Amino acid sequence: MSRKHVFTSWSAQGGLDQLPLAGGEGAYFWDFEGNRYLDLTSQLVNVNIGYQHPKLVAAIQQAAGEMATIAPSFDSQWRADAARMVSERAPEGMSKVFFTNSGAEAVENAIRLARLHTGRHKMLAAYRSYHGATHGAISLTGEGRRLGSEPGLPGVVHFWGPYLYRSAFHATTEQEESERALEHLRQTVQFEGPDRIAAIILESVVGSNGILVPPPGYLEGVRALCDEHGIMLIADEVMAGFARAGQWFAIQNWDVKPDLITFAKGVNSGYVPLGGVVLSDEISATFDERPYPGGLTYSGHPLACASAVASMQIMEEEGILEHVRELDRTVFGPGLRALAQHEVVGDVRGLGAFWALELVADKQTREPLDATRMAAIGRACKAEGVWPLTMANRVHVVPPCVITEDDARRAIDVLGRALDSAL
Ligand code: PMP
Repeated sequence: MSRKHVFTSWSAQGGLDQLPLAGGEGAYFWDFEGNRYLDLTSQLVNVNIGYQHPKLVAAIQQAAGEMATIAPSFDSQWRADAARMVSERAPEGMSKVFFTNSGAEAVENAIRLARLHTGRHKMLAAYRSYHGATHGAISLTGEGRRLGSEPGLPGVVHFWGPYLYRSAFHATTEQEESERALEHLRQTVQFEGPDRIAAIILESVVGSNGILVPPPGYLEGVRALCDEHGIMLIADEVMAGFARAGQWFAIQNWDVKPDLITFAKGVNSGYVPLGGVVLSDEISATFDERPYPGGLTYSGHPLACASAVASMQIMEEEGILEHVRELDRTVFGPGLRALAQHEVVGDVRGLGAFWALELVADKQTREPLDATRMAAIGRACKAEGVWPLTMANRVHVVPPCVITEDDARRAIDVLGRALDSAL
């Protein structure tokens, strides 16, 4: 349908092969031929409350009927309610929210806020990270997608975060990985000049680059390093927030308070474009008297904010955070870890409804599984009505957070059988 006129994200325009979607409900979507799939992707890890939730659709319809657009120069009840609800769910002392339309715009504004608040310009970000595709966000992004946009934003410095399976530090235990990654970051800060560094940005749980859960002590250590030098800590929760990691914000799995949190995706399950930044009271006070030099026509758009309010209410009413923690404990944790026995599974990691299997051709050398065999695994899942998310040599298991226990078990069974097609 799209090939002729749509210029599509991250794709060679000539080679598009996309499934046209006709509808969806809960954790399922279907195409126009009536093929129904259990979705392990949540689109782009955003449909946390599932497809076509009637209350969420109704909230958007109601807002559209009452006042379909309100600019930031006017006050709006929807914007006020959404901001209050997001900040009430954030760590203590983070009571203001700036709304954007996407994750990347949230990151852009977090950069600007950190720079203006500290009067410093450098930004440190992890190599294994994705922060969005606008100029600043793609510059912070550490993985290969940054390279096509170079030269990027001046003042960005990359560092290695923890990733035990392919440790940059030759670590063999989580504790070693945590300590060595912190020492590496400490030295990076020293050599970059601590008084020039505005912020360290990291994904509380690294998403697109492989669902990397930080080892014990790491986030606490980064926080301490930031405190020592007056550096702002930005937690990018665009993917990890809003139930995905079993909490409103993934960082709440640890006792760490960031200075800024970026969010998008799960805040309203992507029904209307929405993102934002949660600000510490200290940072927002910087702009009490002095204007914030940034803004967006659609900051706090009524349809987006109404959908965020409804989405957070639904998550609470339906106990979705608890459901995700239960799925982690009873299904995903044990079920996916058991797949580690399989010949091609090198590593299994994750939490909540946020998991990855890292696949290898050889468990000794850890050589990544090739694209042909990855594609075979994808086809085998689809043949059984399960739509997987394959990225490089990994299968990410990131279904809508409302997936039932039975469906989650079925997904793991199907995945287990599909792995055989790589043998
Ligand atoms: N940060 C993270 C951690 C993300 O995962 C993403 C999107 N995958 C972004 C930022 C960018 O969000 P968006 O695509 O909404 O601009």
